[in-house]
Amino acid sequence: MTPKTKEELRVTALSGTLPMLSSIQLSWLKRKVGEPKGYVNRKYAWCGECGSPLPKETKSLVGRLSANSRIICSFCGKELALTPSNGSKQCERFYFTLVTVCQEFQVFRHFLVSKVSNKGMNFHISHTEVVQNWINPSGKETVLARSTTAGYYCDQWILSSDMSVKRPVRSHGSSIYDINPNYIYPYRRYIPTLKRNGFYGDFFDLAPSTLTKRILTNSDCEFLLKTRQISLLKYACVRGLDRIPHKESVNICVRHRYTVKSADLWLDMMDTLFFLGKDIRSPFYVCPSDLRSAHDWAVEQKERADRKRRLEEERETARVWEERYRAEKGRFFSLSMSDGRIFIRPLLSVSEFAEEGDRMHHCVFANGYYMREDSLILTARDMEGNRLETVEIDLKGFSVVQSRGACNSMTKWHDQIINLVTGNMHRIREICLSSRISA
Ligand SMILES: [Zn+2]
Repeated sequence: MTPKTKEELRVTALSGTLPMLSSIQLSWLKRKVGEPKGYVNRKYAWCGECGSPLPKETKSLVGRLSANSRIICSFCGKELALTPSNGSKQCERFYFTLVTVCQEFQVFRHFLVSKVSNKGMNFHISHTEVVQNWINPSGKETVLARSTTAGYYCDQWILSSDMSVKRPVRSHGSSIYDINPNYIYPYRRYIPTLKRNGFYGDFFDLAPSTLTKRILTNSDCEFLLKTRQISLLKYACVRGLDRIPHKESVNICVRHRYTVKSADLWLDMMDTLFFLGKDIRSPFYVCPSDLRSAHDWAVEQKERADRKRRLEEERETARVWEERYRAEKGRFFSLSMSDGRIFIRPLLSVSEFAEEGDRMHHCVFANGYYMREDSLILTARDMEGNRLETVEIDLKGFSVVQSRGACNSMTKWHDQIINLVTGNMHRIREICLSSRISA
């Protein structure tokens, strides 16, 4: 994009004054970038540093290499991590970042560095600058970068394109131009505002531009940095939070010199304690010496409370339905049928549904059959009162919908039960008709 705003025009002009990488920086790169490797396949085994061949037996290790497979090159003397390779050329890519200052701006210059190892040759390094983050003391950022195809990956920079102003699409406050590099050059410069806001040279494995913008624009992040609550700071930066949750409790941690070691765990615990109605301003809850156990204790308390609440809800529903069930189905309660071996009668209450479902291991209670207006549920028992089957009758069509024994089985009494109910269906129909007339 062509620079439009005053700041974009200034940054574009200033960017042209930035120096190329110095010979000292280049030699640092050559020394530091990329772990020395020995490349191995069935055909070749060579030192990725000096290109010399490795002993023949190294090739036999193909397929059995682990992270601990190492060898010392007898030519250059470097310790090499043995790595499988495809051909006789290998290329690794890294991000390398310079942290510098230009006028009032904090500047991060990101280079894409390629380390190329060829069999028979010393490795060589090439680099291309791909992104510059220019951040002014108010935390406003201007990005200069090369164009990309889609995505985050190194390969997707179009290295032949020019560095130009970009207006990044941000999600959670970050964009593809907030690069978290593999290497940061150790000699760094920072603007005074950044130091004033508590920054002391550690980016805590966050993208330097992300942390810088947050510290310059967000008072909570500045506070967390100054009070060394780093886990909470990282949590807020990664999620792009404007406000840290449970700020008052964080203040109590700070006052009691308590450092939150794991923000995820601690915040989850605070949410749970808050739910439980505990005093989340008491250091007893807020600053536990063993965070993991304190967290697990709170979660267990919450689960217990949840279970109790669910049980109460179920009971309450059943209580409400008890009255309705009596009103709707009470007219059938005097009904009973028997052939001398089997005795059948309606279930007389919702709690009887619960008991029937429980004993027979079927869903007559769980599926709320007591709420069904057009169903009448009967229990069929032997003359000793043992449950045989549970019967559902359709009160519209006056037919048996289903009759099930324990665990939804069909028992040897099944046909007998169906016959008995069918033979008495006229009585059910009469009760329905007379109640319709009286209504
Ligand atoms: Zn070597």
